[in-house]
Amino acid sequence: MDYRKLLHLPQKWTNRVVNSHATWLGAVASLPFLGVLTAVAVTQGNAPEAALPVQQQVVEALTLPPLPQPASNTVRYWRDEAVQRGDTIASLLNRLGVRDSDATGFIYSSPLSKDLLKLKTGATLSVQLNDQGELFGLRFLNDDENGEKVLVDIEKAGNGWRASADAPHTEAMQTVRALQINSTAASALGQAGIPDEIRTQLGEIFSDQFDLSSLKHGDKIDLVYETLLYNGAPLTTGNILAVEIDRGGSHYQAYYFAHDSESGSYYDAQGKALKKGFSKIPVAGSHISSGFGMRYHPVLHALRMHEGIDYAASTGTPIMAPSDAVVETVARQNGYGNVVILRHNARLSTLYAHMSRFRSGLKPGEQVKAGEVIGYVGATGRATGPHLHMEVHINGQPVDPATTALPTRELSSSERLAFTGQSVKLAANLKLLRDIPVSVAQLD
Ligand SMILES: [Zn+2]
Repeated sequence: MDYRKLLHLPQKWTNRVVNSHATWLGAVASLPFLGVLTAVAVTQGNAPEAALPVQQQVVEALTLPPLPQPASNTVRYWRDEAVQRGDTIASLLNRLGVRDSDATGFIYSSPLSKDLLKLKTGATLSVQLNDQGELFGLRFLNDDENGEKVLVDIEKAGNGWRASADAPHTEAMQTVRALQINSTAASALGQAGIPDEIRTQLGEIFSDQFDLSSLKHGDKIDLVYETLLYNGAPLTTGNILAVEIDRGGSHYQAYYFAHDSESGSYYDAQGKALKKGFSKIPVAGSHISSGFGMRYHPVLHALRMHEGIDYAASTGTPIMAPSDAVVETVARQNGYGNVVILRHNARLSTLYAHMSRFRSGLKPGEQVKAGEVIGYVGATGRATGPHLHMEVHINGQPVDPATTALPTRELSSSERLAFTGQSVKLAANLKLLRDIPVSVAQLD
């Protein structure tokens, strides 16, 4: 998942808060105006020349219910500001017209580390203000010293201020969408505001059967995917849970089934694996110890965006190319340590990090076959212990290796039973969606 994208997501939410605030003000402001219009309509027939005085009289006579007059300092709203090169919290607040020396004094003497308070160019800083420009809070996502994503939250508490940097508490919600293709799948998905990660996943799920770009006018996509909410607002997306596509009269279905808490794959309605995937896994006899996506770090209890999967394995365990490829990168990088990137085709590349060492002589441009050793498990770079961190990139976007590239195993009979129970429920959700007029369903 793209970290910058995550930083931009709260913007949607704060926009929504600001918008609803504006709508509410608009409704209140229009009340006296409606009263005036009514008065004019009633009196105009009798005395058109004297409309103005009569109108004033009638307006006075009409007793409108007292307007709720919120004390202006109780109306608070969130505002987002993009962090520009060289911005500090103080300079950004200054740009927003906030001059609260108490707040800035607190921020720079707060228990949060200086690094946590350093803003990254392109990030979004959300500030809570009232209409007088008084500051009530500010928050932004940042990396802590372990590279975990945390929400830096500074807020007014009574007469003082409070600061925290914790994993944002998220909850998962299912989002269901029904899309009618008018021109191309890409434009329908774009117009419906389907997140990039979901679009990439969608293309991948059926890639053994057809290309998403082959969908035409009249075809349909119905899908259910997970949205992670923070404070009721979308923070990021999880997996596609179910998707049905009508393509030129043929019907395609895919359902996600979790093999364990860390990984899963897609199956058709009969429980048959949809993708073959690579012929090999990169570390023999090992299991996925940490899956892809947004998850809590078991030790640090912090939320992180895991852009790959981890295989538990001891130092020195051979790492194999899971499919034929050309070696693209053999390097030593800060976070990744000894890292190898393999290119399998124009769209797809895989990355292997924290290696103790490379296979001797391995160099960029070299062809490797499926099963050929490229290096050995280690703990170089930012790793707490020996393991293989593997990433899959499709057109540069990190995707879940388990659902996109790794060999998909068939379900056992007990798994098949559980799968049927789940897929029936998801299919029912999709059917419900299909029965709603598309224009309504697309509004969320
Ligand atoms: Zn990892």
